[in-house]
Amino acid sequence: MLSDLDNATVAAELEAFAALLDLADSTPYASRAYRRAAATIRDTKAPIMELVRTGRDRDLRGIGPGISARLRELAENGTIAELEDLRSRARPELVGLGRLLGVSPKRMLEIAAALGVETPEDFRRVAHEGALQRVPGIGPATEQRILARIEAEPDRPRKGLTLPTARDLVGGIAEALGGAIAGDPRRWADLSFDLSVVVPTTDPGAVLDAFARLPQIVTVVEQAERSALGVTVEGVPVALSLPEPGGFGTELVRATGAQAYVDALGPLPEAADEEAVYDALGIPWCPPELREEPFRGAPPRLVDVDDVRGDLHCHTTWSDGRGTVLEMATAARARGYEYLAICDHTPSVRVVPGLDADALRRQAPEIADANERLAPFRVLRGAEVDILRGGGLDLPDDVLAELDWVQLSLHAGQREPRRELTRKVTEAMRHPAVRCLSHPKGRILNHRPPNALDLGHVVEVALEHGVALEVNGLPDRLDLAGPDVRLAVEAGVPIIVSTDAHSVAGLGHMRLAVATARRGWATAADVLNTRPLEDVLSRRR
Ligand SMILES: [Zn+2]
Ligand SMILES: [Zn+2]
Repeated sequence: MLSDLDNATVAAELEAFAALLDLADSTPYASRAYRRAAATIRDTKAPIMELVRTGRDRDLRGIGPGISARLRELAENGTIAELEDLRSRARPELVGLGRLLGVSPKRMLEIAAALGVETPEDFRRVAHEGALQRVPGIGPATEQRILARIEAEPDRPRKGLTLPTARDLVGGIAEALGGAIAGDPRRWADLSFDLSVVVPTTDPGAVLDAFARLPQIVTVVEQAERSALGVTVEGVPVALSLPEPGGFGTELVRATGAQAYVDALGPLPEAADEEAVYDALGIPWCPPELREEPFRGAPPRLVDVDDVRGDLHCHTTWSDGRGTVLEMATAARARGYEYLAICDHTPSVRVVPGLDADALRRQAPEIADANERLAPFRVLRGAEVDILRGGGLDLPDDVLAELDWVQLSLHAGQREPRRELTRKVTEAMRHPAVRCLSHPKGRILNHRPPNALDLGHVVEVALEHGVALEVNGLPDRLDLAGPDVRLAVEAGVPIIVSTDAHSVAGLGHMRLAVATARRGWATAADVLNTRPLEDVLSRRR
């Protein structure tokens, strides 16, 4: 009996196969070949199962004898035996533990099979009981190394997904199932640990089936009548909940979180959309970005992407950017902006090329030319100036005075003690050319914690000298973070939302900077680059 799977379904099966092959540490050629074949099948107009039946599938680009045999099997049995086998052995939770223990996915599954365990908890337990010695190929040294890592494991912070990754992942799943994203990414959390999708439906069985077949979901580890927990190939759990349409709003509030915020709302009334839930609670609807701490009041009108009139931090091919001055400016104008500041690095940054006074003066005609071509759009001559060890600036005063826009940045010495770091940064902020302090806390998400800078003192100096503080929109920075933005905004220090774009595509990260400012309760009035350029430039001397 030949099955009639459509092309999208067949492509999804091949993609799942590729993901599982990666997990099983097979050669990268094999998984790449399956991904290529999946893409071809997706783009093919003719029904692929029909081509398989008539033996014409081999005419398609990227479909060799091996993949053709799998397609034949899929056509005849509705399934591929090796794929099912891989799926049953994949155990992403064990693979995830293996990653922490420094054991490859394939070896981790071999060890688990030899021990007869199926969960990370069982693995830890039998390892402590000395069972690892029984596994062929594991000597005392390897056993000690694995046990030591198991001991150290709780101290390691879990890694979260950055915003673009998390939103793409849950966004793709929600779209495929006709639902909405929830959990951490809906609140635009800096890092996502809880991923959640809510789908209103009267037929939960059909949605559960569709969920299990998604290429993003490698395996479903838990399933109930109206919920499931799937795991992606990266080992990330995704919760699916399937309320009746009449309870969609209620479930969306609950699944969006955060837990402390939802708990404080009390029992949630049943309603089809969020607005109706809030109406029934007798409180105004709350933007997801503000749903962290308990709050029942009227939220302010938060800053929006459409309020932003220009981007004041980007790089070009003069330092480590990939776009020219004209390319970056043209793209910024196409986004509807009125201005863009070119802020390439200065020499002290070292790890990437930096511009000295001469180079910045050689860049000037190129910026003038872009201004001529794109008028009335304005391209500003700027720089991202490093703070030197003693608190000085990495450019001479005469060239600093020529620039329209000076961003101040600390790239080295982030681990210095609080007092020295704060002294150096505030000293540099007092320089009359400085307009804005970039990524003040210096954190790199999942990688480097925030520095010890005394933000309270920085805010005082910023107020006194008219310096703005940046919310940097690079996905692994988002610095200032929401709570720090709130501190600055309450003190009356202007915020600047920037992308720090290193390419034309990077200008799109404005959404992340704005969302982070919103998480700090910023309104358009709190954000300097929602104003016309004259206002932005007149703030200082
Ligand atoms: Zn920087
Ligand atoms: Zn930068």
